[in-house]
Amino acid sequence: MSLIVQKYGGSSVADKEKVFNVAKRIVETYKNGNSVVVVVSAQGDTTDDLIEKAAEISKHPSKREMDMLLSTGEQISISLLAMAIHELGYPAVSLTGWQVGMETDSQYSKSRIKRVEASRIKKELDHNNIVVVAGFQGINKYEDITTLGRGGSDTSAVALAAALHADLCEIYTDVDGVYTADPRIVKNAKKMDEVSFDEMLELASLGAGVLHNRSVEMSRKYNVKMCVRNSMNDHEGTIVKEGKKMERMVVKGVAHDLDVARIALVNIEDEPGAAFKVFSLMAKHNVDVDIILQSIGRENKKDISFTVKKSSLDVAKKILEENQDLLGYDEVKVREDVAKVSIVGAGMVNNPGVAAKMFEALYDAGINIHMISTSEIKVSVLISSANVEKAVNAIHDKFELGK
Ligand code: ASP
Ligand code: MG
Repeated sequence: MSLIVQKYGGSSVADKEKVFNVAKRIVETYKNGNSVVVVVSAQGDTTDDLIEKAAEISKHPSKREMDMLLSTGEQISISLLAMAIHELGYPAVSLTGWQVGMETDSQYSKSRIKRVEASRIKKELDHNNIVVVAGFQGINKYEDITTLGRGGSDTSAVALAAALHADLCEIYTDVDGVYTADPRIVKNAKKMDEVSFDEMLELASLGAGVLHNRSVEMSRKYNVKMCVRNSMNDHEGTIVKEGKKMERMVVKGVAHDLDVARIALVNIEDEPGAAFKVFSLMAKHNVDVDIILQSIGRENKKDISFTVKKSSLDVAKKILEENQDLLGYDEVKVREDVAKVSIVGAGMVNNPGVAAKMFEALYDAGINIHMISTSEIKVSVLISSANVEKAVNAIHDKFELGK
């Protein structure tokens, strides 16, 4: 007998038919002799609709009250799903985040899980119940409801799988698994059978969009075997697990991210501490910096450019402008019409030819590169956002990922 955690995304439980479809899948797993814990997201666009409702009342709603509001979406889906399982003649009980002891820190709207107490779930499993848990939500030390950030139900599922030492954590969604590129823009994108935690982490954080990246971080940390599957068919899906060390470099996928903006500081003093001052200011204000580029100095001046998320651009710009005297630059230039395109695969660092091949694909497509960054597992370039589709397809073809 195995313990299986299944997570169903909002699109998989969007309406009555889909709720019953999911209930049937759960019952199948249960009938095969497994203990089943299910984590669900809010139905369809519920979370977005709730955010809109709040906006009708307040421009800057209290974060505590926002979490109180958004957590209701998942409370609807768990109760409906438990009822559907009852209709099929099987025992199920729905539980909220606080009922399962999902303890988080106190940062409303983006809280992190600290501990899962889980005794209630264990008790329900001992009574042979299918346990249906609200994703995305937890409780903090003030006994207030918190939420884990958009898409956070994946992370709830992995946290439960880790706490319960589950044999498998299945993430059900509306696509067949993790693809070599976004299938909406690359026609011959292929579903991967397997991907390592490290590769998945890069693909998730680079904007592949199938998994909440904190869920991958957590599954790597606790070695939770995870699988991404389609809730509407029986295809195998993609298994995410510990990767084997490989000598040979294999490019696994091409990710793209449109949530990027570039900031350039022109003519900053070319002296020790210049970069330190800029990036410590960013860190102090929680601005995540990604690609960094510094030009060669000339006449005691240099340029420093870097990328941030679009949502952080205003804050970053304001901080830089307020500190112009301290930093001593001439001008801040920003660009929002940029995007990051990356190739991901273990062993990148020992294969300089791989980066060259990616640049060649872009050259052949006539696409200019603004910035480059490399790591052990990826090569990223910043290009103009108008070229994203062309770039991703050119790179995908060059590495023959569709074959
Ligand atoms: N319902 C939440 C959201 O829409 C959490 C999730 O779907 O994972 O972001
Ligand atoms: Mg999701």
